[in-house]
Amino acid sequence: MQYQEIMIRFGELSTKGKNKMRFINKLRKNIADVLSVYPEVVVKADRDRGHVYLNGTAYEPVAESLKQIFGIQAFSPVYKVEKSVPALKDAVVAIMTGLYREGMTFKIASKRSDHSFELDSYGLNLALGDAVYTALPSIKAQMKRPDVTLKVEIREEAAYISHEEVKGAGGLPVGTSPKGMLMLSGGIDSPLAGYLALKRGVEIEAVHFASPPYTSPGALKKAHDLTRKLTKFGGNITFIEVPFTEIQEEIKDKAPEAYLLTLTRRFMMRITDRIREVRKGLVIINGESLGQVASQTLESMVAINAVTNTPVIRPVVTMDKLEIIELAQKIDTFDISIQPFEDCCTIFAPDRPKTNPKLKNAEQYEARLDVDGLVERAVAGIKLTTITPQVEKDEMADLIEELL
Ligand code: ATP
Ligand code: MG
Repeated sequence: MQYQEIMIRFGELSTKGKNKMRFINKLRKNIADVLSVYPEVVVKADRDRGHVYLNGTAYEPVAESLKQIFGIQAFSPVYKVEKSVPALKDAVVAIMTGLYREGMTFKIASKRSDHSFELDSYGLNLALGDAVYTALPSIKAQMKRPDVTLKVEIREEAAYISHEEVKGAGGLPVGTSPKGMLMLSGGIDSPLAGYLALKRGVEIEAVHFASPPYTSPGALKKAHDLTRKLTKFGGNITFIEVPFTEIQEEIKDKAPEAYLLTLTRRFMMRITDRIREVRKGLVIINGESLGQVASQTLESMVAINAVTNTPVIRPVVTMDKLEIIELAQKIDTFDISIQPFEDCCTIFAPDRPKTNPKLKNAEQYEARLDVDGLVERAVAGIKLTTITPQVEKDEMADLIEELL
């Protein structure tokens, strides 16, 4: 037998009073985005449940996708059956025969919202239980904690049977919190930071600094691929590519080597903040992790952060590298992150960056540059792309051309 539908139980959002419908609509759209790779699948939602109609699509890959979407507490695949006692009997027998092993216990739990149906739920439990006994004489009924509970629901349009519940990812539906700008490099940390922000419902836009020709199309593709991985958790993400070459050349030209990194980061922060303002985001999210590299000391954080009052969320700031790697593997970004494409910071990185940069010095060196003009030109040159869970055909063609 094939599953026709998946019923979805909402997570934390069901406690959110009058915002409930807004939450549910967001989650429905996120699920539809993620499942858009399956053209036959239809997603609907009402106040109590979400419904994924498979329309012939295989259950397993869809279930794998659902397991990752934030805001889903649990889901159950269901069989849709004709609303008649003989059809229901055939169905429960087929299902139980498929599941049966030696010494198994079971129970039938019927419910009907269509009260005109010929049997009430008690009568249905007996009739369907009998049918199972007749087919599998050594099976036992057990009311408390049976191995299998067959839930039978008689609704207006048809009858539905389910027997398993799969745990979802929990968290909040992406987009139920306002927007944050994720500073996304090609590294291991920032995609994980993005994932953790998504988990709490924050909608993210990915801001990526590229310095062609010093950085390759491969590095950009890597950032796209990482963003695509993040779409699995809550749907499409806007990717913002920032032209950063001019700024890096200027800094390299005019500032002392020891402050290259501090100044570079300060520009990234300023530009991200400016884009945030234009695109109506509320916060900045990055992948800084304390003490991981010379540039990620508290002194350095102070010198970089001084360019803005906007809250900067650093979800991985206190995690160990090994914890980060483990999680990055779990969310399947690790293998992309370790691809050997240099990003803009690696190329312009000084041999010995200052571990305790002084804000005063950073400001002094910046006075040699046209900070406002540089920021303005970078922001004017941004390129927006919508990243969906699907690899776009056009994008593939473009990339192949670029790589050749
Ligand atoms: P990651 O693994 O995320 O690259 P990292 O440990 O290598 O982090 P840094 O390279 O010092 O750390 O960068 C610190 C943070 O600055 C990154 O986590 C990211 O949020 C941001 N960042 C660095 N490079 C870029 C870039 N090219 N585009 C966008 N953000 C960047
Ligand atoms: Mg990095």
